[in-house]
Amino acid sequence: MKEVEIGGITNFTLKKIMKQNILFFYLLFLLTLTFVGFKSVPQYSKNELIGKVDPTKNADFVLVDVKYASKSNMYLREETYLAFVEMFEAAQKEGIKIPIVSAFRSYEHQKSIWNRKWNGTLLVEGKNAATAFPNPVDRAQFILRYSALPGTSRHHWGTDIDILSVELEDYETPAAQKMYQWLNRNAVLYGFCQVYGTDATGHITEEKWHWSYMPLSMDLQKHYNQKIKSADLGQFSGSNLIDSLQVFEKVINTVKLRCTGKQ
Ligand SMILES: [Zn+2]
Repeated sequence: MKEVEIGGITNFTLKKIMKQNILFFYLLFLLTLTFVGFKSVPQYSKNELIGKVDPTKNADFVLVDVKYASKSNMYLREETYLAFVEMFEAAQKEGIKIPIVSAFRSYEHQKSIWNRKWNGTLLVEGKNAATAFPNPVDRAQFILRYSALPGTSRHHWGTDIDILSVELEDYETPAAQKMYQWLNRNAVLYGFCQVYGTDATGHITEEKWHWSYMPLSMDLQKHYNQKIKSADLGQFSGSNLIDSLQVFEKVINTVKLRCTGKQ
């Protein structure tokens, strides 16, 4: 059979080119779908969600340069860190320092804080919780005003930071007030919002120092709520009370956010 020539290209060649192109676009389409799928639905393991991560070995985490922090050896998820560095530099241009005093905290670290507060070796409000609150539920509720249960801290995610100090009185100096006002006006531009905690009684405790990188933490919070049950939180002092404390309803899901970008 004679081939029909179109502009020097035979019908046969044309069909071949079209076939190749269709195949090419089909492969490109599949590749795009896979890429978009991976990008938009990051998967977080249960261990990652409850802080059982070694940030020195996890490729998603980076070491915080000590020039942005009050001490060395702190880690954040890389995306959080890059956003923070941009915010830090913008604040610095206006003569404001926003040092990180706490970043990623592991499950083991949180468990150590919790257990020491529980047995009284680490004081809470200057009190030995073990002797001040012999009733375990009262004691847990008292400690929860300041510390999250191991496995329930937003610091486990590498998206949340404490800035300047975790003592409210340190926020009363003129320099700290100026810094706090700057954060309230600008942090949202870099993806950070202030997080309010709530204790087991639903009492809201303001944490002027605690800021969360929302583009990541919203996703981690969603995954946390879908996957983590009280049995996943492991063993620590008072861990038998988890269900009666209703931590999931009252601590994790009632976190309030301030993302006004005004004030
Ligand atoms: Zn914090």
